[in-house]
Amino acid sequence: MDMAQSSEHLCYVRCNFCNTVLAVGIPCKRLLDTVTVKCGHCSNLSFLSTKPPIQAPEKKHRLPSAYNRFMKEEIQRIKAANPEIPHREAFSTAAKNWARYIPNSSEGSVSNGSNNVRN
Ligand SMILES: [Zn+2]
Repeated sequence: MDMAQSSEHLCYVRCNFCNTVLAVGIPCKRLLDTVTVKCGHCSNLSFLSTKPPIQAPEKKHRLPSAYNRFMKEEIQRIKAANPEIPHREAFSTAAKNWARYIPNSSEGSVSNGSNNVRN
């Protein structure tokens, strides 16, 4: 069994200068780094980022739908309790209730939750 081969990932990077495609074997432990590749044809340096492309965060999608669902039900509830309330007022009341419904919404955790990686 050849351990050395299986612990490498073969990546391809195209030289920005002469368009030669360079095959680069990257050790698995360096897979999260940016690797500098020197073109064998023109000696131009290319930077190969081995990080996987960032997927669209699911949290962003989930939060508005939870918010929308809450608002829809809350507005219905407020209107049922106060049939003569204007929609605008019912909406703002529901929005206030949503702010109370999420206890830590004032900490700004909504916009950049993807940075909260803990080991
Ligand atoms: Zn080149």
